[in-house]
Order: sequence, then C-alpha cells, then structure tokens
Amino acid sequence: MREQLLHLLFPNVCVVCRKLLLPAEKYCCSSCIAEFNPFKNPSESERLFRHTIASSLGETILFERGWCRYQFHKKSPLQHALHAMKYEGMFNLGTIFGRQLGEWMLSQGELGGIECIVPVPLHRLKKIARSYNQSEKIAEGIGELIKRPVRPELLVRKRYTVSQTGLSAMERKKNPEGAFQSAKIVNVSHVLLVDDIVTTGATLVAAALALRHAGVDKLSFAAVALAVNE
Ligand SMILES: [Zn+2]
Repeated sequence: MREQLLHLLFPNVCVVCRKLLLPAEKYCCSSCIAEFNPFKNPSESERLFRHTIASSLGETILFERGWCRYQFHKKSPLQHALHAMKYEGMFNLGTIFGRQLGEWMLSQGELGGIECIVPVPLHRLKKIARSYNQSEKIAEGIGELIKRPVRPELLVRKRYTVSQTGLSAMERKKNPEGAFQSAKIVNVSHVLLVDDIVTTGATLVAAALALRHAGVDKLSFAAVALAVNE
C-alpha cells in the first residue's frame, strides 16, 4: 500500500531506482531497462521455455510455441519492475511488457493459427484484493499487437493457492495442480496462454491442462520473463 501511494505521489520516478524520469521515459528509466536481460531472439527463448517445462515436469504437455522476452534473475532491476507491476499498482507496465511481447511474436512472422489470448487467472478473492490481474494486462498488450481477442472468461482459478514466492521447488510443482477450471466446452482450437514470470512452468501447465480438458486442441505460451538457473 505504501508503495502504491509512493507511485501515485511521484508518477515520474523510476519504479526500480526511484530516480526522476526523463520526459521520454515511462515507469522505468533507460539505465534500469538497460539492465534487463532480454533473450537474443525468439528461438532462443522458445528453446529455454521447452527445456524448463520438460526438465521440471517431464514431457507432460505438448505446446505449439513459447515466447518469452527476458531472462529472470533474482534481485535484478527486472524483478523490481515486475514486482511493481504485480503488487504496487503499476499495471500499465503490464500493458507495456505485453506490447513488447506482441512485437517479439510478430518479428517471427507466423503465429501458428492462435485464435485468442487467455491470461493465467488470479483467484477471485485475490483479484479483489489486488484490484487487477497483471497477466490480463500483459495479455491486453499482446492482443493490441497481434490483433487477437483477450478472453479471460475461458479460465477460472478455483483454488486459492499461496504465492509461489518462498516455496521450495517441490512445493511449487505441487501447488497449482488442479487449481484451474475451464468452461465445460471451449470452442476455440488454439489458445495463447499468458503469464508474467515462469519459474518451473507448473502454473502454466496446470492452466493449460484445464483448457485442454475443455476441448482446446492447441496451446502456445507467452511470458514476460523466464527464470534461468543461476
Ligand atoms: Zn531506474
């Protein structure tokens, strides 16, 4: 709450380093952005995405495409920016990250027939407490660029899961299982599922399985950041 108030009082201050922003800068100053660690190209991010999902969960789910813009490191400026986006009311950062992802996807040309975008949902009570879902903002940013509709109503979070932060790798894996539910029948063949940060991939996979259970044939994933082993 204190952080939200700070951003409200000082909107032209960098969310990471608190220095005054230049007129052309928004939310993050250019020197903090220069510290973010982007993937070199979409193929590199997709390779690591596949590796993460396969190594932490086994080949439990096949997905078409995986896009990710940044490598995530603990205590990095990117972590501060994502924290501000998620917990400090800076949801516009989500839209900005989403547009970056959309551009990243389009830079590769073919989107493989994605029909709509579904953000990983928050539990209803958590959304009320936080007042917005950061993944929905990211999805909206992507949607603007790739011109596909965002359909948050296709997936709900039925179980109130504890935050992944502070859980061990094993607990993280178990945590989201069965946490999601989709409409009885989803009449869409290819969904792009969107999350903010992917650590083990367990949340994405649990959400993807719920959609598949409801009849979605193909799934692709997009996330702002992917945790890399340090
Ligand atoms: Zn800064």
